[in-house]
Amino acid sequence: MPCPVCQSINTGKIGHNTYYCADCLLEYTESGGEIEIFYIDAEGSSLALKDKEAALKLVKSIREDKGLLPEEILEGLIVRS
Ligand SMILES: [Zn+2]
Repeated sequence: MPCPVCQSINTGKIGHNTYYCADCLLEYTESGGEIEIFYIDAEGSSLALKDKEAALKLVKSIREDKGLLPEEILEGLIVRS
């Protein structure tokens, strides 16, 4: 299925209802029409992003800075459990 964030078809299924986008380097899950998007940080933990807007913002900053996202930006985009 195409990436819900960037619409790329450069995606792969990596698990049950779990997909990976090679263009925005995010993982997302689809279940019953609900899509959740995850950012994988440097330690390999999945961080749930608030919504598609947050995911787009994150991808844009990563592309522009070509590196890891500053903690303070990330903080505003993810759902803290
Ligand atoms: Zn994507």
